[in-house]
Amino acid sequence: MRSRAAATLANGLPRRGRQFSTSRRLNADFTHAVIGAGVVGLAVARQLAGRQGASTILLERHGAVGTETSSRNSEVIHAGLYYGTDTLKTTLCLKGRELLYSLCQKHNIPHRRTGKWILAQNEQQWDECLKLHSHAKNIGVPTRFVSSEEAARREPDVQALGGIVESPTTGIVDSHALMTYLHGDFEDRGGDCIVQTAVTDIQPVNGGKGGYRIYTGSGGASEASITTETVINCAGLEACRKTPENLLCEGDIFLLLSIGPETEYTPISSAKPRAGRTGNAFNVRHGGTCTLWAGCGMG
Ligand SMILES: Cc1cc2nc3c(=O)[nH]c(=O)nc-3n(C[C@H](O)[C@H](O)[C@H](O)COP(=O)(O)OP(=O)(O)OC[C@H]3O[C@@H](n4cnc5c(N)ncnc54)[C@H](O)[C@@H]3O)c2cc1C
Repeated sequence: MRSRAAATLANGLPRRGRQFSTSRRLNADFTHAVIGAGVVGLAVARQLAGRQGASTILLERHGAVGTETSSRNSEVIHAGLYYGTDTLKTTLCLKGRELLYSLCQKHNIPHRRTGKWILAQNEQQWDECLKLHSHAKNIGVPTRFVSSEEAARREPDVQALGGIVESPTTGIVDSHALMTYLHGDFEDRGGDCIVQTAVTDIQPVNGGKGGYRIYTGSGGASEASITTETVINCAGLEACRKTPENLLCEGDIFLLLSIGPETEYTPISSAKPRAGRTGNAFNVRHGGTCTLWAGCGMG
């Protein structure tokens, strides 16, 4: 049986039901409400649902989980090469990378430690590679140089006139399989995911002391609301509604079918310094195909 509050939001749509146990410290319907079922919302909700006494609801405006940015990325497990020394981003990326590998291994989520080659085509780019190599050493991310003989043996079709640095801890993951796992495990832990439910407003109850009231709409249906002790905003590009347009960027993704089967291991990115948020990358995908990302916002 779904809780009354979750059933109200579900608007009679046929979804799986859950019985909640909750601390109800503030007499709210839920202890936690997570907005947005992309990979971040799914991971956060799953973790919260595992807590003793938690009742967690995950609200997604589309008809299925993970249909926005989380299903349109390069599926790279980043080594953590590019972020600053002593930053939280570096710490979390290094820790998260290993947690992700072990989660994938434990639950048979398709992934591969492909490694990544950073290519230099000239002296200037090689200087950048050397800086990256030394930065990686400082922050504890392994990198190594690949000789031209080794490169010719492993990837004969790759040209790198200036040199190659390899990042052996970079990999790839099947993002859809990852999200399917997170979604299933969230519900197995007693969480409830309500799709086709857009959050339209959030109001503090009693100045926040009584938690928050979340208002939702479901494609023209009348608004419903629930209360929660804590709100976690994982709405991706919508998380900050007033995002200036110039923070969003556009790019093209090409699927390279013809060369896919011959490229064994390595997502490769150019060592060319990045201008603003644009960049190019070439990635191996599961199933042997490759993608070329041109002028996209690269992380
Ligand atoms: C081109 C590109 C390549 C990338 N490559 C990589 C990569 O290789 N490796 C990597 O680690 N990262 C990569 N990223 C980054 C990664 O994809 C994102 O960081 C990640 O997917 C963000 O997940 P999210 O859950 O925050 O957002 P999203 O996937 O956008 O999820 C947000 C969810 O919130 C929902 N939502 C929004 N508003 C509301 C509302 N009002 N009510 C209810 N629901 C709402 C949306 O429908 C959506 O489902 C890449 C990004 C891009 C753009």
